[in-house]
Amino acid sequence: MIAIAVDMLLCQHYGQCVFEAPKIFHLNDDDKLEYLAEADDSERANVESAVDVCPMQAIRIVE
Ligand code: SF4
Repeated sequence: MIAIAVDMLLCQHYGQCVFEAPKIFHLNDDDKLEYLAEADDSERANVESAVDVCPMQAIRIVE
């Protein structure tokens, strides 16, 4: 398992992470980011891509 943390003070809800890891991140009906705090290792590459594309550098994988 990997643990995922998003700094919601930094997040601007742009949604780039949603495209990289749609099983982990999604925008709710209010266009606010919601995400899973834990994910299977099989999602690691997608979450790493989300980390890379986030314009606010708000996403971290907690080792
Ligand atoms: S890409 Fe970054 S700023 Fe955009 S919604 Fe995801 S966590 Fe928030």
